[in-house]
Amino acid sequence: MNGAQKIIKLDESVVNRIAAGEIIQTPSSALKELIENSLDAHSRNIQITVKSGGTKYLQISDNGTGILRENLPILCERFSTSKLQNYSDLQSINTYGFRGEALASISLVSRLSIQTKTRDQECAFKVKYENGAITEGPTLVAGNQGTIISIEDIFYNNPIRLKTLSLPSEEFQRIFEVTSKYAIHNHQVSFSLKKFNENNSIKTLPSDSPVNIIRTIYGNEVANSLIDINCADTKLKFEMSGFISNGEYSGKKRHFLCFINHRLVESKSIKKAIFDEVYVKILPNSSHPFIYISLEMDPKNIDVNVSPTKHEVNFLNEELIVSKIRETVEEKLLALREVKKLFLQQ
Ligand code: ADP
Ligand code: MG
Repeated sequence: MNGAQKIIKLDESVVNRIAAGEIIQTPSSALKELIENSLDAHSRNIQITVKSGGTKYLQISDNGTGILRENLPILCERFSTSKLQNYSDLQSINTYGFRGEALASISLVSRLSIQTKTRDQECAFKVKYENGAITEGPTLVAGNQGTIISIEDIFYNNPIRLKTLSLPSEEFQRIFEVTSKYAIHNHQVSFSLKKFNENNSIKTLPSDSPVNIIRTIYGNEVANSLIDINCADTKLKFEMSGFISNGEYSGKKRHFLCFINHRLVESKSIKKAIFDEVYVKILPNSSHPFIYISLEMDPKNIDVNVSPTKHEVNFLNEELIVSKIRETVEEKLLALREVKKLFLQQ
């Protein structure tokens, strides 16, 4: 085919499936979206159950606001959201969601069922969806306030994606990591994660502190090594707080939990500054540290709409803010080393 080709407009169903592939790559990426939805719905209790690392079955149950009966027909249509109305709302967004794509994408790649009850409804409704549309229901069922979302047979209609999934044990590990990160950061919400017919792998209580949650999930050794860090800058308009392991601790692998305005992100620049420029350079013996930082800044200074998974964000004055964070971590660790030296000399 050497000659110029005719351009056609892709069918909407093709467009939607292409987009869905971008957002939902593994059971854990579906779970991330669902946890965020539960948190956006002000849930105080989030329970997750999985079978075969989420590849066969993944269920999340919350006690949030529930979904109105009238929203059910369009719930799984692409770009249906209750969180954003105008483009300018993105400047002050304080919910995780805003693109209205997660449930639509999940319904395109799996068999999705939703049970939900709002405070004012007497009964719950149960609905099944496939390819963005209702296939069964809504049926009236008994249930508590909140929403239960079940995903079965993820990628049943996409054999290539199915093949690229890792072993169930590895997919479960990803689910474990996502759940832990949200549980640590949202310590006022109780989380549980379990494999079907087994005991809880994660269980947190609403009164737990972040360090205690880290202790329950990752163990005493890391929790005992944590020191708190804080910094703020009124000119750069940001605040940072968190916990980092001291210069003595080194685990089996690195742990990096980074939240920007409560959004779990993969900030390459912060990661590089802390790991490569502080821990590896000045504390090579602790090159597998545990880092949990939470950054808050004016929503106007952040662009959250960089990627469909929202894993990346861009923010104003990034270089200056990152170097301030690096200095804070460095100072804290060096000061600790000095104290230790003095202590050993005595
Ligand atoms: P977004 O979160 O970007 O709005 P989603 O596809 O994730 O898009 O969800 C679509 C809508 O469904 C949300 O805007 C919300 O109104 C509703 N919703 C989804 N999950 C829940 C939940 N667990 N509790 C209450 N409402 C929910
Ligand atoms: Mg969402």
